[in-house]
Amino acid sequence: MPKKFDAQKYFVSKPAYEVVPVTEVKGRNHAMTLMSNALVPGSNFYIETGWVFGMPDPNPHIEEHVHDYDEIVIHLGTDPKDQEDLGGEIEFMVGGKALIINKTSSVYVPKGVKHGPLTWKKYWHPHLEFTIMIGAGSLAEADPGGHQKLMGGKK
Ligand SMILES: [Zn+2]
Repeated sequence: MPKKFDAQKYFVSKPAYEVVPVTEVKGRNHAMTLMSNALVPGSNFYIETGWVFGMPDPNPHIEEHVHDYDEIVIHLGTDPKDQEDLGGEIEFMVGGKALIINKTSSVYVPKGVKHGPLTWKKYWHPHLEFTIMIGAGSLAEADPGGHQKLMGGKK
């Protein structure tokens, strides 16, 4: 630890809004970037999160894609009485196999493994989706959800 540790340097109190979906997605807020090298230089993490507050439309809106970095995808329910209750059911294709996500859960997607689409099958209360990319420090490196690729290579 440096002699004069400056915790403020590592504190992200204002998220970035750098992910631009190809089309407006109903039932979702714009994703927030909560950690990147732009927010905390040298962090080498890319963390993005967003609320799902209704049945998304279009559905799916995250198509098949792949990353050069390992990714962790977390879906988190928001019922304080049952934190494992996701509030929806999502089919997540990973390496060509369907995962059915209907509980608060986490998926580790190794780099190079194709994943997506994510298709919402049911919705009953709000949940959060987190993307954590280890070693990627920017949206350009992380390209979560493949949104930017679908925009014609604008990264
Ligand atoms: Zn991904």
